Amino acid sequence: MENNSASVPTDNNVPQKFIILGGGAAGILLAMKLASEKRILNIDITLVDCKSFFEYTPSLISVLYEGTDEQFERHFSKATADYKTLLGRLGVKFELGILLNMDTEYVTLDGDGATNQHRKIPYDIAVICTGSSYHSPWKVSIQEQPTTTIEWKDRLNYLRTQREEYKASKNILCIGGGPVGVEVVTEIAYRSSKKKITLVNSAEKVLSGTPRGISESGERVLHHLDPIQLINGEKAECMDDHTYKTSKTNTEIKTDLVYNCTGVRPNTQFLQKSHLDWLDEKQHIRVNEFFQVQENNNRVFAIGDVNNANEPKLWFTAHMQTVHLYHNLKRLLSSPSLDMIPYHGSQLSMVISLGPNYAVGSLNDGVVLLNGWPLGRNKGSKMASIAKHTIERITMNDFHSKKLTNNILYNTHEKGQLLPRILSKVSTCSDQQTD
Ligand SMILES: Cc1cc2nc3c(=O)[nH]c(=O)nc-3n(C[C@H](O)[C@H](O)[C@H](O)COP(=O)(O)OP(=O)(O)OC[C@H]3O[C@@H](n4cnc5c(N)ncnc54)[C@H](O)[C@@H]3O)c2cc1C
Repeated sequence: MENNSASVPTDNNVPQKFIILGGGAAGILLAMKLASEKRILNIDITLVDCKSFFEYTPSLISVLYEGTDEQFERHFSKATADYKTLLGRLGVKFELGILLNMDTEYVTLDGDGATNQHRKIPYDIAVICTGSSYHSPWKVSIQEQPTTTIEWKDRLNYLRTQREEYKASKNILCIGGGPVGVEVVTEIAYRSSKKKITLVNSAEKVLSGTPRGISESGERVLHHLDPIQLINGEKAECMDDHTYKTSKTNTEIKTDLVYNCTGVRPNTQFLQKSHLDWLDEKQHIRVNEFFQVQENNNRVFAIGDVNNANEPKLWFTAHMQTVHLYHNLKRLLSSPSLDMIPYHGSQLSMVISLGPNYAVGSLNDGVVLLNGWPLGRNKGSKMASIAKHTIERITMNDFHSKKLTNNILYNTHEKGQLLPRILSKVSTCSDQQTD
């Protein structure tokens, strides 16, 4: 990179208009981190989202399959937060609306319900955090060009319907053996042991692509849960509404409920008209190591699932990218002559639930593995499960410790920091000795 110094307009008296597009993992954390310094940095922050509420996606599976309807509604309330209230407390403006377009000075939103007129919101600096869509019911789908904004009550009613369908079903088919598919089938197996669940996974093992040890641990637990039939190395093909067939062995699967747990799709439709050139072949926004969308342009950045950074699309990595960008934005806004620091990627720490009380977890690319060893390996780790519940509580209840926790995680995971560099050296040495 030749020159990445700031090119943001700076009239010191007028706060710069800072806009965050999307309030998921990345957007909400960035808003929280910048809010406490907005006066010093002289910025006015606005966050835009087409939902009126923040939703903690990693909890949605456990929410849907809660033991009773009352617990389901209570857990949904605890895993969501109203943006206006949350951001209002931080002094951040909230705009409810569907992003339709972005040009060099404005983003365009749909009508506000009262007027139906498109709204134009000016910006000096924009951070795109519009994330990705996933198959229903796990995320609100933005793919089919959304036509209405989504209120909390609508989402709750939709999930209630999904829950009724689940309760009425007897034979459930789940397609995809990644973290979402594995969490879904294990949660159901514990909650409703009489339902028959088939998991069809095109890879040779579940959880492939996760840090070492996780896949073997997940596979072992699935084999010990009676209601689950696991079919690896095949695809599920739809024959009719209630029948699927696998691609190699032609195994017939009768089902009354199907969950598709494959593939994330970036939410970049609003760039199709004005900035097709920003997108790669998978429709992710191309970014460099500073998360700049265009080389040397310090006005537009993209972080989280929406960008093409070469790391897994996770809540965790979205947070690591956010903390990194926050540090660079602080440099940029407080002293434009300072160069920005490149992002080196992050070592992965992840926890995958295996039902309500067990999980498998891995810290720093598998340096530490929590899998129930030595006595509980057929079920998974209770400690990892407690960690997952604690992360949810930190995310939803305690915004001060959320910022602190993410700072600690960043310093221990971003590959340019000292500890991750040491861990990576130790891990390479031990791999070489094993070979
Ligand atoms: C079921 C499930 C479980 C998961 N569990 C885990 C886990 O345990 N750990 C983990 O690390 N990762 C997990 N993930 C992945 C994680 O949820 C994502 O990687 C993360 O949400 C990405 O964050 P983001 O901020 O980039 O985008 P998102 O969280 O997708 O947020 C994007 C925001 O932008 C808004 N938006 C999008 N388009 C528009 C538009 N046109 N107009 C207005 N607003 C818009 C959306 O409403 C949304 O609020 C899970 C994913 C799923 C589906």
